[in-house]
Amino acid sequence: MILHLAMNPDTQKQLKITDITAQKLDKLNIRTAWDAVLHLPLRYEDETHITPIADAPVGVPCQVEGTVIHQEVHFKQRKQLVVQIKDGSEKILFLRFIHFYASHQKQMAKGKRIRAVGEIIHGFLCAEMIHPKIRDAESGGLAESLTPVYPTVNGLNQPTIRRIIETALGSVSLHDTLPDELLSRLKLPHLAESLRLLHAPPPDYTIHQLADGALPAWQRLKFDELLAQQLSMRLARQKRVNGQAQPLRGTGELADKLLHALPFALTGAQQRVLAEIRADMLQHYPMHRLLQGDVGSGKTIVAALAALTAIEAGAQVAVMAPTEILAEQHYLKFKQWLEPLGVNVSWLSGSLRKKSKEQAKVALAGGETLLAVGTHALFQDDVQFQNLGLVIVDEQHRFGVAQRLALKNKGADVHQLMMSATPIPRTLAMSFFADLDVAVIDELPPNRTPIKTRLVNSVRRAEVEGFVLNTCRKGQQAYWVCPLIEESETLQLQTATETLAQLQLALPELAIGLVHGRMKAAEKAEVMAAFSSGRLNVLVATTVIEVGVDVPNASLMVIEHAERMGLAQLHQLRGRVGRGAAASACVLLFAEPLSELAKARLKVIYEHTDGFEIARQDLNIRGPGEFLGARQSGVPMLRFANLEEDLPLLEAARNIAPLLIEERPDIVEAHLNRWLSSREQYLGA
Ligand code: ADP
Ligand code: MG
Repeated sequence: MILHLAMNPDTQKQLKITDITAQKLDKLNIRTAWDAVLHLPLRYEDETHITPIADAPVGVPCQVEGTVIHQEVHFKQRKQLVVQIKDGSEKILFLRFIHFYASHQKQMAKGKRIRAVGEIIHGFLCAEMIHPKIRDAESGGLAESLTPVYPTVNGLNQPTIRRIIETALGSVSLHDTLPDELLSRLKLPHLAESLRLLHAPPPDYTIHQLADGALPAWQRLKFDELLAQQLSMRLARQKRVNGQAQPLRGTGELADKLLHALPFALTGAQQRVLAEIRADMLQHYPMHRLLQGDVGSGKTIVAALAALTAIEAGAQVAVMAPTEILAEQHYLKFKQWLEPLGVNVSWLSGSLRKKSKEQAKVALAGGETLLAVGTHALFQDDVQFQNLGLVIVDEQHRFGVAQRLALKNKGADVHQLMMSATPIPRTLAMSFFADLDVAVIDELPPNRTPIKTRLVNSVRRAEVEGFVLNTCRKGQQAYWVCPLIEESETLQLQTATETLAQLQLALPELAIGLVHGRMKAAEKAEVMAAFSSGRLNVLVATTVIEVGVDVPNASLMVIEHAERMGLAQLHQLRGRVGRGAAASACVLLFAEPLSELAKARLKVIYEHTDGFEIARQDLNIRGPGEFLGARQSGVPMLRFANLEEDLPLLEAARNIAPLLIEERPDIVEAHLNRWLSSREQYLGA
């Protein structure tokens, strides 16, 4: 068997560990001695004194000592060892072990005096501890200070990991990367002192004190982490600004033609952001700009005009969207707008047949196609552009990590415009998105009829069907969104087909189509085209239509089991209507009973239409990590710092980072070396 070892042999020697242990540590992301030093306790156990069994509180870790009065192995559902101990307090405590060896039986033989550390729970008959830590009472005195408990994996026990960390602490230089003057100004302790305190707390510290993030030792670690993040973001920015991109100065010719052909005029906000984007594109380094605007604020036309500027300047443009449906919508829109101007637009997606794909690729490489729209297939290795100058990415946060990296590599020297309807909270903008310039469309196009939102109990479904019929009889169209079933795609599909059948039965007069995630791209496109052109009155859909679909004649949105959906999702879905002249409505069907969380969400979506306000409320309800789906989207998570709680530290780190970069590159290098472990990727935006 070949062992995969991420840890290098020298480190292994330094930490005095075997290959097997190195592999276990790898699972904990510990690959260097520094990684081990930064592996901080999850909590602490108090083995400094003994609590009488009768006084031991339920659910709080404690240490008891007693004599074994009974031991037996049960074979009930599962083989288990049950030991009873008793101290002077006349109460019996049961100790239960599901995993045990003969050595445990010996250690806890009848008559032995032992210590057990664990949490007491109320068992079937009496107090018990499950899998407590056991020690021979005679083997030694009590601990002098609190015992750290580390995050670990199967097969790596606490004493081992404690020993490894102790070794690591003794083998790395704990020399401080930050100057004393700075530390005293920020009232932060030295790193060495902080680490030693957390790994081996002095006797006078309590569990409560050590768990408090405001403890100076924790503050120091959080600060270092935030500083590393700020430094790496700033350096990424610097690298970009020192990079090369072709300045794209348009003639305005094509863009003006498109503006004249449009049935509407740009809003003031659209003009402003377009000017910002164009100014960025004139730079000799790559633009990295996020265009934010609520659902329906008109980001697409801004993107198209920016694309024309690039094309006027002789460059090619790639437009990328996270889903086939959205990409296809963009393709149709761009084609409709650009082809009359003589600009060739092509379509590239993973599901395209081989021959069409080859053709599209040849046209791109040869420069006949000036604009390509597609999914992440656009950034596959074998897609070559003759002269790519601008990349436009819609709903960028929905792409996976690998795709974002591919984009980052391919797009290193081109201008990038990202678009998103998800507002970024200030703290996130200050940290993870630090290398991103943001432009906001803060105004909706005029003459939008406000969308009426109604909450309707699902027992009144028949009335809602009647409402759909009336709407369609007036020549308008409706969406009907199926219940979300997160657990199973198969069930989701089944529900979608059932919903379709049910509606067809109830509304025989209407042409009803279905679009769902499992459909082939061509089928999806066909249904979408039928709906766009008005051949279908009603579109039954799973949440695949959540982002970007634009059919102005649709004026009714029905969402089934709205209580299961998140706020962002509901807002996006509702934003599919209210785009044309007709008064629009959104019906949220809900089924009782409603959880408190569901009630809170429905109240917010009912009361608010402004996406930024909804996002703020959403953030309140869910917290920032959940909010952005940060883990999935590859935004690196902070290990110690918490953006909301540690805002003052974040601000301090943000202020100091540029000064350090300017004046003390030696500190910057040392700090980043220490804090950015080999695999950690600070992806930037
Ligand atoms: P989003 O920002 O959600 O991507 P879209 O770009 O899809 O929004 O625009 C929503 C709708 O508004 C589209 O039908 C678009 O053509 C239309 N639109 C965009 N800008 C204007 C404007 N200035 N005046 C009127 N309608 C507009
Ligand atoms: Mg859009």
